Amino acid sequence: LSVTDYLRAHIRTVPDWPAPGVQFRDITPLLQDPKVFRVLIDAFVHRYMDKDMRPDVVAGLDARGFILGAVIAYELGVGFVPIRKKGKLPFTTVEETYELEYGSATVELHTDAVKAGDRVLLIDDLIATGGTMMAGKKLLEKLGATVVEGAAIVDLPELGGSDRLRGEGQLPLFTLVDFA
Ligand code: IMP
Repeated sequence: LSVTDYLRAHIRTVPDWPAPGVQFRDITPLLQDPKVFRVLIDAFVHRYMDKDMRPDVVAGLDARGFILGAVIAYELGVGFVPIRKKGKLPFTTVEETYELEYGSATVELHTDAVKAGDRVLLIDDLIATGGTMMAGKKLLEKLGATVVEGAAIVDLPELGGSDRLRGEGQLPLFTLVDFA
């Protein structure tokens, strides 16, 4: 079994959640089983511990990006910074608003979370339309940092987000499991 197939077998698909017609890809079983959790985290750590791939900082997207990002950062020996939904961060922030299927969302980052010139690895659990990851990249760039790669467990390529990010966003992406 490849790492991809092993991980895929531990992602739960929940039909019609949070809305009718949506097939929600639930990654919590990956975290719950200690062996699977280790295989998952190691897949990222092995990629980013190489000298030329190692970031200065790991940024995680609210909320499942925190779980993955914090552990990956710890293993790489670099710091972790959270990108949060609006209204949660106490210090001064930069913010970015992006469009959702219905309405919009705003994410924030502390102004001292990264320094100009920092090379940042941006982590989330899943890429759908790519809007969340793009907003995170823009926030980090507002502070002068460079996002060297976006990483997630799951890509939903049919929604076009990963193509869009790689294309106009010029953001290299690393994902472990595709669901068509
Ligand atoms: P995007 O901004 O459209 O790419 O959506 C990605 C964001 O929505 C990520 O933060 C995901 O955590 C969340 N998301 C969307 N669909 C799913 C899903 O099927 N499973 C888990 N998270 C999802």
